[in-house]
Amino acid sequence: MNDKRGIESPEDHDKVKVSKPKENSAGIPAIRSGLKHVLTYMDRKDAFATLTKLNQKGGIDCPGCAWPDPEDDRSKLGEYCENGMKAIAEEATNRRIDASFFASHTIEALRDKTDFELGKLGRIAEPMLLQASQKHYQPISWDDAFEMIGSELNALNHPDEAIFYTSGRTSNEAAFLYQLFVRAFGTNNLPDCSNMCHESSGAALSETLGIGKGSVTLHDLHVAEVIIIMGQNPGTNHPRMMTALEKCKQNGGKIIAINPLPECGLIRYTNPQNPISILKGGVKLADLFLQVRINGDIALLKALMLLLMQEEEKAPGSVFDREFIEEHTSGYEAFYAALKEENIDECLSEAGIDRSLAEEAAAMLRQKKKIIVCWAMGLTQHKNGVDNIKEVVNLLLLKGAIGKEGAGTCPVRGHSNVQGDRTMGIWESPPKSFLESIEKHFGFKPPEKHGTAVVDAIKALKEKKARVFMSLGGNFLSATPDTAYTAAALQNCRLQVHISTKLNRAHLVPGEISIILPCLGRTEIDIQGGTEQFVSVENSMGIVHSSKGVLPPCSPHLKSEPAIIASIARSTLKDRVPVDWEFLISNYDHIRSAIESCIPGFQAYNERVRTPSGFYLPNGARIRKFNTQNGTANFSVNSRPDMMVPDGYCIMMTIRSHDQYNTTIYGLEDRYRGIHGGRRVVLMNEDDMKSWGFKAMDLVDLNGHADAGKRVAKHFRVVPYPIPRGNVATYFPEANVLVPIHSYDTISKTPASKRVVIRITKSENSA
Ligand code: SF4
Repeated sequence: MNDKRGIESPEDHDKVKVSKPKENSAGIPAIRSGLKHVLTYMDRKDAFATLTKLNQKGGIDCPGCAWPDPEDDRSKLGEYCENGMKAIAEEATNRRIDASFFASHTIEALRDKTDFELGKLGRIAEPMLLQASQKHYQPISWDDAFEMIGSELNALNHPDEAIFYTSGRTSNEAAFLYQLFVRAFGTNNLPDCSNMCHESSGAALSETLGIGKGSVTLHDLHVAEVIIIMGQNPGTNHPRMMTALEKCKQNGGKIIAINPLPECGLIRYTNPQNPISILKGGVKLADLFLQVRINGDIALLKALMLLLMQEEEKAPGSVFDREFIEEHTSGYEAFYAALKEENIDECLSEAGIDRSLAEEAAAMLRQKKKIIVCWAMGLTQHKNGVDNIKEVVNLLLLKGAIGKEGAGTCPVRGHSNVQGDRTMGIWESPPKSFLESIEKHFGFKPPEKHGTAVVDAIKALKEKKARVFMSLGGNFLSATPDTAYTAAALQNCRLQVHISTKLNRAHLVPGEISIILPCLGRTEIDIQGGTEQFVSVENSMGIVHSSKGVLPPCSPHLKSEPAIIASIARSTLKDRVPVDWEFLISNYDHIRSAIESCIPGFQAYNERVRTPSGFYLPNGARIRKFNTQNGTANFSVNSRPDMMVPDGYCIMMTIRSHDQYNTTIYGLEDRYRGIHGGRRVVLMNEDDMKSWGFKAMDLVDLNGHADAGKRVAKHFRVVPYPIPRGNVATYFPEANVLVPIHSYDTISKTPASKRVVIRITKSENSA
């Protein structure tokens, strides 16, 4: 294999077309786009059966993002967005790939397919095996696969030589069983996709507010006076959030959007379910847009807090919530003294924001107490990701905007059960109390030594300190940084096991032995012990609820994730631990009862998960009970990050297209940004284009600065775009190859995918 064949999607720069970016999101075009996917890839009766149940009480939880469903009435027209439809079309496609498909497609031939094409091949219909020197994946029986996995795991010198990854689609039941098996096997090597997204939020919020999750509910968003949306593109990544923002506006709330790109979903929203909204051309969302430079968020927050401080000093108690600060917080004096040392204009120049706009934002916040800050990867995927979130918390604490109606923290999660998986114990550094509960309930001693998060897991595989990689869902190669390095790490494996619904690029960089175990999707009926089962998930606001499939499995050879995990556990552990895996999966109520015994907040789990909207998990920050080490909410002092860029270089951030969900490429239409047909584009400021000597659609190479420029991503089309000068944006996973494996937040270990130093040069064959 040459350097990139197989590890990167084949180039598509020749197919790129560009049109004017849109200024209104959702509406009729969203319905049209979602329907197009459903009607192209699904049988009509399946489409009807799934969409009428999608996000309905007792129905199918959308496998897309983790945005919550309304607790009261849900739209009968459809409680989902365009991307929810695409997620369903992707999973419940009528296309299949089975043994005969793999017999006629070598792995080399599959490597020539783009990520988009791979995804559209269809559902994997039976277990497959690829061994060193073979050219084709070949069928393997379930029993032989389990036997092989068990004997390979048992042949390791130490359980820490195995890595057990989880993607955020995994249900609570599967996740709990998986971590139980992994800990019974003897390791805490449980990296997950959270390591790459909201780990920075979890670390910062745990330290400052005592809970690594957000504090707000949907109702809070509806009644907030001001919602600040930072480093987030809800129109594409959490589209139903727009309905909540619309309600906030209807109730008189204001929205401040802070982002390097003027995303369409932040500008205007047309509710596709509301004919009046459609007729009126939608509602303006952001009252104020602050186009911050990449990673200028701390500087901007400091400037806003300084402006508020000036007003507070004129009339003490008129701007800051002194009572709250006095009663519930620590560290205010040190924070205040450090903030006073900062200079407003210096901060604003670093953030790239005009003083008049910052003053407008400060004026919107001054007299308001019900303030919510929402954020996503734009804040978390930095070397200073944890500090970014701690600075957000500082602002909220000053205003007493936490633990009351209409106020609080809202880290918006990107994958439907990523939050639940962590609650279930998918964590490389579990708290002692959790391990003690496992020991007490199951009668074996789990390992205490912390395991590896994603970045360290990749390094361990690359250095052959780990030899087995198992993935419960996900596309590890495309989700992770430093693609070439990660591919080499995966290829070093003695054994790879992928529990998957569809083929993806991670399956194309095999180890000595690679096994694909095809599992049921969320839309499918799961029968165990003769009865239909349901699973449960936790959304972005800490509500646990059920999800039940409605379609017959797309192949008779599929197993559910819990059943697969139980079989792997049995074949590996034999009778080494006193866990009755058969009993646990014979009825998922048994797994939920075990969860109830081991994890706080799940009392009467089986009863409460059957209530139509599910139940809220306890959340101290929501009621001003801060479970931090000192029992109070904590101010913190966070330095402004170094914004210097070497001469001739710029800052690149990775972004998603509107036709993409995480690593799944639904299509090639980034409708809102006006980019069509291809993905190898770099969005660039027009003034930068002039000074760097580029024209629109020029073909360029992106050259990383780290490690003497050894990382290069070739052949991207220049697209003029309103992005701050010195900043550019590219899609991931295409640009992940430029994110150095060693560039991450040292506390959360979240890769710094939103700040990559690169130099852009004309491609050699730039005709
Ligand atoms: S907002 Fe998220 S959870 Fe809801 S339908 Fe869309 S993709 Fe699915």
